[in-house]
Amino acid sequence: MGETSSVDVFELLGQETRVEILRALLAARRDGPDPFLSFTELKDAAGVRDTGRFNYHLNQLLGTLVVDTEDGYRLSSFGFRLFARLSAGLSDPDPDIEPVPLPGHCPECDAELAAAAGGNQFQLVCGEGHTLNEGLLGSPRAVANRSPEAAAETLALVNTQATELGVSGVCPSCHGRTEGGIEHVEGYGYRYRAPCSDCGNQFATTVGDCVATHPEVVSFLAERGIDARREATWTLPFRLPDTETVVSEDPLRLRVTVGAEFEESLDLVLDRTGSVVDGDLA
Ligand SMILES: [Zn+2]
Ligand SMILES: [Zn+2]
Repeated sequence: MGETSSVDVFELLGQETRVEILRALLAARRDGPDPFLSFTELKDAAGVRDTGRFNYHLNQLLGTLVVDTEDGYRLSSFGFRLFARLSAGLSDPDPDIEPVPLPGHCPECDAELAAAAGGNQFQLVCGEGHTLNEGLLGSPRAVANRSPEAAAETLALVNTQATELGVSGVCPSCHGRTEGGIEHVEGYGYRYRAPCSDCGNQFATTVGDCVATHPEVVSFLAERGIDARREATWTLPFRLPDTETVVSEDPLRLRVTVGAEFEESLDLVLDRTGSVVDGDLA
């Protein structure tokens, strides 16, 4: 596959009439099962009087953000995906959301945990003021209209899925190809980083996260009644920052011990790419 051709969305959006057309189509899509608007309905909904001007701007959007069908005009699937994320509150820099109580305890002081919204992610904090340095991914919609239990489960699910993509060479934000690796970062210890040159997403996570859904880990945890894909990431000690052991620095070999809290644990040794080079039950 070659480079994907792209539309200059900023240019398309840089005009008020076009923005009003898109807003009207997004509202039609969100408000009911029928996402189609006729020419006149769309013109009225967008609040444009001048037919010539309306027609001109509608044409600018056709084929990219808007499609013209037998049933009328609607957002294209590309347009819908773009605006669905924006309208989900992902773009709100300061969402006013109460901290969500989470299962598990602070590894430093054992106090109860909560997820505090900040920017477009959640920060894991404890009642004593400790901040765990791994932010949780999640739009404000992940916790809206859910009980605290369901909100915590949703954050866990979203984070495990995004992490799995991120450590597999897939940008969790745009699905572009990334090449990640483990680096030593001053003040953090070892981290897996996979920046995306397509969208600029700076994916970074713990060393333990590289093996969070490794088949051996999944079955080890399943035997102990834990579903690796749904368990709150922050309650699994091996997924926390700075819990790996350095086996060798050159070549880099890091040991992740899964289930140190059980009688038997699982040791996995990772190389610089985050791949398992050796695994053993200890
Ligand atoms: Zn604490
Ligand atoms: Zn990306």
